[in-house]
Amino acid sequence: MTLEPHVLKTSRKVGWIEVVCGSMFSGKTEELIRRVRRANIARQRTEIFKPALDTRYSEDEVVSHDDSALRSTAVATASQIVLLAQDSDVVGVDEAQFFGDDLTEVCRELAESGKRVIVAGLDQDYLGQPFEPMPQIMAIAEYVTKLHAICVVCGNPANHSQRLSGSTSRFQLGAQESYEPRCRDCFDLALSKGEKTAQSSSDSVESSTESDASSKASATPASSEAASDSPGSAVRA
Ligand SMILES: [Zn+2]
Repeated sequence: MTLEPHVLKTSRKVGWIEVVCGSMFSGKTEELIRRVRRANIARQRTEIFKPALDTRYSEDEVVSHDDSALRSTAVATASQIVLLAQDSDVVGVDEAQFFGDDLTEVCRELAESGKRVIVAGLDQDYLGQPFEPMPQIMAIAEYVTKLHAICVVCGNPANHSQRLSGSTSRFQLGAQESYEPRCRDCFDLALSKGEKTAQSSSDSVESSTESDASSKASATPASSEAASDSPGSAVRA
């Protein structure tokens, strides 16, 4: 009888929370997919959830921008994850910033029930503000990985999601056509707010890095100041 607590303790599954965060195009979903794939190889039971509103590419797959994909389940609320993940060892959550504050307690509950929880999401919104509930989940997580994209203007590591067009809603979905990754220095808050318009060139991340980097380097303070007054040159204000 005295052995029982000891046996229970050693056989108890220990859960934890991992957060993978960063700007858009920083590879968060790819990293989530990589971790879940490795758990699958270890024959662990995995399940990936995403908010039902994110239906950009596929209804039943987590699909990253580079087209690597795993099956996922779209759920309307965070609390549904607790019920649907009952048989899982590893629970992935993609686009976590689109779940409400409930997700924080859901992650805690899952981890305390012995599951490994991997949460991927934007840590900042298009204005550069912390994107709830990611800050709260990062605080209670055991492990936090912050990824960076590449700034399309200067080529440095980017931690901002620059909005190029569209509404002032925090929840506007979109890929290349309405967002691009930028570093702190090149991030343009007025452009994200829609107070001015972007240049028509909707560059791809790869192709624009070099030309934009050189154009920034050649701009003198005087010319960049003048350019910032013209509505067409929002790249570097
Ligand atoms: Zn930059």
